[in-house]
Amino acid sequence: MNKQELRARMKAYRLSLDSAERKILDRAIADRLIELVSPYDTVLCYVSSEIEVDTRYVLSELFKDSSKKILAPKCVKGTNIMHFYPITGFDDLEEGSFSIYEPKDGISMQTDFSDNSCCIVPALCYDSKGYRVGFGKGFYDRFLAEFSGKKIGICYSGCIVDKIEHDDTDIKADIIITDKGVSYT
Ligand code: ADP
Ligand code: MG
Repeated sequence: MNKQELRARMKAYRLSLDSAERKILDRAIADRLIELVSPYDTVLCYVSSEIEVDTRYVLSELFKDSSKKILAPKCVKGTNIMHFYPITGFDDLEEGSFSIYEPKDGISMQTDFSDNSCCIVPALCYDSKGYRVGFGKGFYDRFLAEFSGKKIGICYSGCIVDKIEHDDTDIKADIIITDKGVSYT
């Protein structure tokens, strides 16, 4: 299956999950993720939209630890580039286009991260080597090409496939967390 077909299939799969079932999967991923990010002093984490694995619970737990730096992404309008901005709570977010919550205007973006950083990488689909299918714009491929911290993919176990085609610009995750467990690629 090519990336286009995988995108369509994985979107349909996610929409087919009922909300109670999905909450259980989200929580299983969140519990593992919270444990796994505990040694990192800086965590780059997207703010989940409807179709993505939930990160709001994870963020609410991370905000409790004031020694941890949390950063959320914001896309530069009209481009395929995103930057990360420090946030300390949900009050630092506002609704942007496509109902995506992003850091409020006025927060300064950060481009240098501590050596002990990790980035939570969303995907519609992962394979066992850590290659991913995103929404097709290459936002994370561009960002991760310059990011030297740990890349932690999160995904429903029902969205893991044997093999995903990839090219030179696709960046793979180092670790994948699903509702079934944690694997190192
Ligand atoms: P996604 O990763 O969102 O699933 P793709 O991997 O299909 O999407 O990438 C989308 C487009 O972005 C492709 O045309 C790809 O070549 C391009 N792209 C990805 N990373 C880079 C990069 N670092 N520099 C330039 N173009 C890139
Ligand atoms: Mg890609």
